[in-house]
Amino acid sequence: MGIADYRKLMIEEGLNEAYRCVHCGFCLPTCPTYRVTFNEADSPRGRIYLVKELLTGKIKPTDSLLEHLDRCVICRRCETACPSGVQYSKIIEAAYAYLGDKLTNYGYSSFVRTGLKLLENPTIIRLALSLSQSIPGIPNHMRGFARSRDRESLDVVLGRVFEPPRDKPVRARALLFTTNSCVAWQSHTHLVHATIRVLTWNGIEVIVPREFRCCGAPYMHMGRFDKAIELARHNINVVNSYVGKYGGVDYVVIPDSGGCQAQWLEYDRLLRSDSGLRGRVVNPLQLLDAIGVVGDLGPVKMRISVQHSCHMMNVAKAHEAIMRVLGKIPGLEIKGLSTADICCGAGMMYPDRHPDLADGIMRMKIDDVNRVKLDALIIESVTCKAHWANYVHKYNLGIRLMYPTELMDLSYRSGNNPGYENIINRSREI
Ligand code: SF4
Ligand code: SF4
Repeated sequence: MGIADYRKLMIEEGLNEAYRCVHCGFCLPTCPTYRVTFNEADSPRGRIYLVKELLTGKIKPTDSLLEHLDRCVICRRCETACPSGVQYSKIIEAAYAYLGDKLTNYGYSSFVRTGLKLLENPTIIRLALSLSQSIPGIPNHMRGFARSRDRESLDVVLGRVFEPPRDKPVRARALLFTTNSCVAWQSHTHLVHATIRVLTWNGIEVIVPREFRCCGAPYMHMGRFDKAIELARHNINVVNSYVGKYGGVDYVVIPDSGGCQAQWLEYDRLLRSDSGLRGRVVNPLQLLDAIGVVGDLGPVKMRISVQHSCHMMNVAKAHEAIMRVLGKIPGLEIKGLSTADICCGAGMMYPDRHPDLADGIMRMKIDDVNRVKLDALIIESVTCKAHWANYVHKYNLGIRLMYPTELMDLSYRSGNNPGYENIINRSREI
């Protein structure tokens, strides 16, 4: 199917979906933008109405309309609240398909648009991360990635296989998704190392291909469907080549990143095909929840709360499994947040495009975090962590930001697990 036919199909599907909305308004309180502006046009119901009017030619794409559509953080929280099962994502995608570059480019400066084109190049990403605090005009979001950047090298794990220790039976084989051609993975390398340690200690053979490229989520959210399809096709081909080479792969593991995992889960819909991966694209702790945790979990004396990634919760639906596994760590005091299920507004440089709205969303959450007095806030997604790193710095919050898998890693380190620390040094080439 050519891209023009694909866009036509998306518009048709989105319009059909928009007609399913019965205007009940149950979704309104779950929408982060509506909770800040209380403007109907910034709510799911309002946007659905606007898109329906637009797609049927009753209204024109004015700047005001583009503004209200672009203010959507695409968290998909409204989908889980809707009693009629309206799939809002199909409706906003139809708007992107209909408006093309008008909406794709809305809110992004030409400087940022040029930067985005370069941001699949590993060397340029490295340079941008190093210089991000000193170059004027660099988006805040990039500064967040630089702020939460880890010291571990991704190169030492790419193209390698990590086997469980000899005394542990092999329970499954997994491909680990990470790539040097994405700013999120080049900066959050400690998470990748921690994921390898935790999984192999649980008897999982971990293969880390170097051929994976960006999952395509940034392009999908900008309406660049051609690029998102190209990347989906590429990554599925990589999986298939390893299935052939190793005679089967049980899982594709996405280290804590709700956005990337959600995008992988959309590949079949995007490619209009069946990759056979349904139910097998998982978060590391979701996998442990399914097969059972082994090894000695040592005490981690910390007071924490978990900020759910909207895509982990609303699309991958892995947040409950993650909480179950974290609940096994001795010594951990887990406090609830009343705003844990509301999107933090991190996606696709949202704070650079809508700084006041992004600030309004984060103010609610920061008040919540301050109330519970934490040692660490556990973040379920790489993009969210970069966003939070900026706000921890801005408001001097004095808390650690960690991923669920890093917490498990910490627990294994404090338990009786001889050899655990050396797992990264015991690998072979693919
Ligand atoms: S996707 Fe999120 S921001 Fe957009 S309308 Fe739904 S709840 Fe609101
Ligand atoms: S909850 Fe569903 S049906 Fe009700 S207004 Fe929101 S999208 Fe429409």
